[in-house]
Amino acid sequence: MNKDQIQAFGNLVSRADRILIISHIRPDGDAVGSLIGLGLILEEMGKEVNLVLEDGVPKVFHHLTGSDRVIREAVGIFDLMIVVDCSDIDRIGSVLDEYGEPDVNIDHHPTNTQFAKLNLVRDNAVATAEIIFDIAKELSFSLNLPIAEALLTGLLTDSLGFRTSNSNPQTLRIAADLQEMGANLPELYRKAMSEKSIEAVKYWGQGLSRIQLEDRLVWTSLSLEDRIIAEYPGRDDADLINVLSRIKDTDVSVVFVEQKDGTVKVSWRSQPGFDVSLTATQFGGGGHKPAAGAEIKGDLERVQEEVLEATRKLLQ
Ligand code: 5GP
Ligand code: MN
Repeated sequence: MNKDQIQAFGNLVSRADRILIISHIRPDGDAVGSLIGLGLILEEMGKEVNLVLEDGVPKVFHHLTGSDRVIREAVGIFDLMIVVDCSDIDRIGSVLDEYGEPDVNIDHHPTNTQFAKLNLVRDNAVATAEIIFDIAKELSFSLNLPIAEALLTGLLTDSLGFRTSNSNPQTLRIAADLQEMGANLPELYRKAMSEKSIEAVKYWGQGLSRIQLEDRLVWTSLSLEDRIIAEYPGRDDADLINVLSRIKDTDVSVVFVEQKDGTVKVSWRSQPGFDVSLTATQFGGGGHKPAAGAEIKGDLERVQEEVLEATRKLLQ
């Protein structure tokens, strides 16, 4: 991403009235924070903005101002279509099926496929929210408290509370700027990352009860039955992967989540020196060196076997 591209983005925005912004299925804090943050920035400029997430906003982000504005499908016509935090076009679900190629792709995944007309991709950014902050600064777009809260949520969640190895002084400078705009970091951290529902923790319990460790590889699975037993409403792993990745003397952790549509959502996390995005890409997914995911067709047992076999190769 260079300054000319940012300027080109500024020109596209100034010419547009109706703007659609989209992010990925099973949205995380960076997807939601980047979507709402950019949406509110453009709205402040007098644009008519539509915010769309096929899966809606997860409950843990409902405290963000603007979260109630997010709808599940695009309606009407748009002058500008922007996709945020998506490494490839399949990640947005079916939102653009009737609309065609998006105009702008703002993202930080090394596996980004440059799928839009204008691709603002910078893979050394900790979060897409960081790129949006930089773009806003470069183009002198003004920020306010709800925007700062949304962007800080993106920064906090993708850096796991500034714990990922790519967190750097610049990450903290941006966080400090957002705090100075009034964003309450400890409160945003608690709501988006620390606090868990009793159902989520029971769901963890199901997965943790059959955790497996082999050499420096640790994994577990969550079945549809586990979800019912725990009464967990989401189709994600309730962040169980970030519990597994804390286990000492392991290099790679994997969680398998059985889905209703006959697929399995796989999440990988790794210690420095192991690039799990390579394995995820083999299965049609993507992500970053230390954190990657894929959605794989097949039953839980078979997917688990195939993925573990490929992941063991990474560890050799
Ligand atoms: P998570 O395991 O938390 O879902 O995702 C970890 C990382 O991998 C995130 O950066 C996320 O964007 C990426 N990721 C997760 N699932 C998929 C997927 O199905 N396809 C692609 N391309 N990336 C994914
Ligand atoms: Mn992200």
